[in-house]
Amino acid sequence: MGNVPTTVKHCMSYEQLIEEHPWLRRWLLQEKIITQHKYPAFVKIVEVGPRDGLQNEKELVPTRVKIQLIDMLSETGLSAIEATSFVSSKWVPQMADHSEVLLGIQRAPHVQYPVLTPNMQGFQDAVAAGASEVAVFGSASETFCTKNINCSIDESMSRFEEVINTAKERQIPVRGYVSCALGCPHEGPIEPSKVAEVAKRLYDMGCYEISLGDTIGIGTPGSMFEMLQRVVKDVPINAIAVHCHDTYGQALPNILTALQMGVSVVDSAVAGLGGCPYAQGSSGNVSTEDVLYMLHGMGIETGVNLAKVIEAGDFICNALCRKTSSKVAQARSRLQ
Ligand SMILES: [Zn+2]
Repeated sequence: MGNVPTTVKHCMSYEQLIEEHPWLRRWLLQEKIITQHKYPAFVKIVEVGPRDGLQNEKELVPTRVKIQLIDMLSETGLSAIEATSFVSSKWVPQMADHSEVLLGIQRAPHVQYPVLTPNMQGFQDAVAAGASEVAVFGSASETFCTKNINCSIDESMSRFEEVINTAKERQIPVRGYVSCALGCPHEGPIEPSKVAEVAKRLYDMGCYEISLGDTIGIGTPGSMFEMLQRVVKDVPINAIAVHCHDTYGQALPNILTALQMGVSVVDSAVAGLGGCPYAQGSSGNVSTEDVLYMLHGMGIETGVNLAKVIEAGDFICNALCRKTSSKVAQARSRLQ
């Protein structure tokens, strides 16, 4: 430490010190005083099971089951539970009971219940049912956008602009999604610059958080790194969330990569519910249980009780007559 000038010692940050003296970082790593990556101390989990997860179930899930699932999740310590989607019931019959669900749940204090509002009609219905946070669903793929929401990326952005502006007037926070951030079922790989462009547009319009979705679960830590490295040039890292599907078994390593890059908001679904109706062979969301197990094992706080999430997972899997997709829940049930 002899060559650190004493006059600047007290006003230099750790980051500046490390940057100016690379040998110091190497020495700290070698002596195991620091680790290679700086992980966030707290990660916020956005539970998307009741919407993203259940949306694609072929059989209609009874409204009371959806309500009970959300009520059970509200008891776990989660601070954000995506409750439903105010999309036209013609497009997504599974979400036709959106108002009943939102009005029927027991809202826990400190829990946000965002709902998807693809257009003004959806937004107005959501507000009438008491929504206090909404989300818009954009895409980084032109073809996926057309097939999924029936318009071009540009048209979708102008629809969202109206929703976001009205939400702002009413002080309702808006979350933005960018689907196909690591690949599209129709177009294949998506340029990171395209993801950055759509993410920035949503952020500039007023979305407080942008969730980058690997909708078909095709990404790897390599493509996640490349994509995030480009997006953070245009959107602040603390406004970015990742949304991973586990189709190729890459969801956890992809999330870990995002954490290493400073992302501290992760979307996941209880029991790994979900899949994408517009993308053949796409499996469910990464399971909340598996994400929690990994984060807690790394000493990262989430405020969420894993055992209670497993209970909520058991409940919905029983109701759907299905085996959980969560490896952690499977392992825990074998231990019992
Ligand atoms: Zn998803």
